[in-house]
Amino acid sequence: MIQEEVLILKEINYKENDKILHAFSRTRGKIQIISKGSKKSNSRLINVSQVFAHSKCSLKVSRDMYILTYGELINNFYNLKNNIDAYYYASYILELISYVAQENQHSSRVFDMTVSILSHLCNYEDGFDKLTAAYELKLAAMLGYKPDFRHCLKCNSLVKTSGKFSIVDGGVYCSDCVNYGNGINVSYNEILTMESILKSKFDHIGFIEVNKNIITLIRKFLFYYIGRDNFTTLKLL
Ligand SMILES: [Zn+2]
Repeated sequence: MIQEEVLILKEINYKENDKILHAFSRTRGKIQIISKGSKKSNSRLINVSQVFAHSKCSLKVSRDMYILTYGELINNFYNLKNNIDAYYYASYILELISYVAQENQHSSRVFDMTVSILSHLCNYEDGFDKLTAAYELKLAAMLGYKPDFRHCLKCNSLVKTSGKFSIVDGGVYCSDCVNYGNGINVSYNEILTMESILKSKFDHIGFIEVNKNIITLIRKFLFYYIGRDNFTTLKLL
């Protein structure tokens, strides 16, 4: 028997009363869990066996599956159901992490950040695109693709004016070196904004002015490094 913190990404009906849960676990990456009897209205596993449920679980290991024996709900992000936009962004986060978690088995930092963004989406009334962009940039950094916004990729000097941001090279070319690499034109202000998004906690993202260019750029950056851009839930945003 093991104890694990999990976030439910997907629930699939199985047999008459059971569910198979796709879950993002805090220390084991993505796992599949059988939740027996959880379709019954009197099941004690009902709350922890639904999409978005974040809980502490006791799991029995059985070949390539885990069997849920007990679960204690930490949060089900109930408020997401009261705001359709928050719900769509949160659904996108689940689809994104479902893809990313397959290859990254032990990332408790990514797990904690994912739970945190869901609770922020739950508590905010707007600015979801900004929060989600912050999550995307921080996720890229945690996966090992942290862009350097301070120093020019070519001459290494401190960037002090507008320049180019190169997704492929993972950083900025200063105004003297813009001809060396391919990239997207960015103002100095946009460079500073991206850096402060990367450094700020979700609580502070609301105070940062973020334009559409940056939101688009961050998403392109992440998608380039994870190698996928066709997420179904993106169509909802
Ligand atoms: Zn330079």
